[in-house]
Amino acid sequence: MDKDDMRIETKATHIGQEPDPLTGSIVAPIYQTSTFVFPSVEEGAARFKGERDGYIYTRLGNPTTFALERSVSALENGEKGLAFASGMAAISGVIMAIVSAGDHIVADECVYGCTFAFLTGILSKYGVDVDLVDCSDLAKVEEAIKPNTKIIYFETPANPILKMVDMEGVSKIAKEHGITTIVDNTFMSPVFQRPIEWGIDVVVHSATKFLGGHGDLIAGVAVGKKEFMDYVAGTTQKDIGGVLSPFDAWLILRGIKTLPVRMKAAQENAMAIARFLQEHKGVEKVYYPGLPSHPQHALAKKQMSGFGSMIACELKGGFEAGKTLMNSVKLCHLAVSLGETSTLVEHPASMTHSPMTPEARQAAGIADGLVRISVGIEHIDDLLADLGQALKKATGY
Ligand SMILES: *Cc1c(COP(=O)(O)O)cnc(C)c1O
Repeated sequence: MDKDDMRIETKATHIGQEPDPLTGSIVAPIYQTSTFVFPSVEEGAARFKGERDGYIYTRLGNPTTFALERSVSALENGEKGLAFASGMAAISGVIMAIVSAGDHIVADECVYGCTFAFLTGILSKYGVDVDLVDCSDLAKVEEAIKPNTKIIYFETPANPILKMVDMEGVSKIAKEHGITTIVDNTFMSPVFQRPIEWGIDVVVHSATKFLGGHGDLIAGVAVGKKEFMDYVAGTTQKDIGGVLSPFDAWLILRGIKTLPVRMKAAQENAMAIARFLQEHKGVEKVYYPGLPSHPQHALAKKQMSGFGSMIACELKGGFEAGKTLMNSVKLCHLAVSLGETSTLVEHPASMTHSPMTPEARQAAGIADGLVRISVGIEHIDDLLADLGQALKKATGY
């Protein structure tokens, strides 16, 4: 069967997951090696020149890592994937391959905390200017573009308040100006959203989250056009060197086999929890794209095939109540990160989004009392019971 004809559930368990041709082992081996022996000086030289295919050194390429890269590019419907040592290595590697001193980036004002720090801190040291705007407003995106704008960067839905950006709308504007669009697709995974299908140029992920899916590694991936990804592989990835270890690539391949079933199970739980929170007397506000009350529910239905398993909420009683909730859960874990099998709760203002200034958090709509929940795949009744008892302690209801 041609990979283009496969549904995503089939791709997840077959592309990059081929049995080992040498032994028939149904799981391909982990090529846990740093270097590859050349049969001759001539062959080594030819591989370095790119005249002949073949492995050289794991920072330049490894069969296990390549298998993961083929898997994620197939899932995202892209041409080529690259694996990195972390989501931040993928994000910074892709961005630094594009910009030079004097260039300008337009980014959404609501991005992952370390992405914010990279864009506004590190890049400014190298003479790259960044303007943070609300990318859900296409007029503001258009207005922010300058002659030297090279990148439009955003997350959708954005961490942590699940604000969405119209990918088709932004990519249309970007194409008119010859600007590269980059979307962080960590929250939805390719199971529920494939930005390339809406005209986005490059998709980045923290593979630490849903793709790996089991909370046991740190990794990142990027997917885009072959020519551009080859350029990233030969420049920032190779020379800055944030490459993924073969063992972690193998673990992610293992995680990806169950990505579609995990995404669906977690989403089902999330929908039930979002409804429960919305009805709860102690809850002020719930952010979940699957609720008809979400202001961008229509956009969610247009560009996503599911609503994911990330929820944010504000309790009556603000920060103090949120703190009590997070200190009172017994089954849910109080931890940052997301997208694993167990449910995690965290406090964005003091944890994941603490690298942002209080002003930047306010502009991005991240209230001090906001609680973020990454819903796992436990039994829904157990989750509701745990959240229910913690909410009672936190809000009295
Ligand atoms: C976690 C995360 C990142 C950073 O990824 P790491 O793997 O921790 O480097 C980037 N974007 C989003 C949306 C994330 O959740």
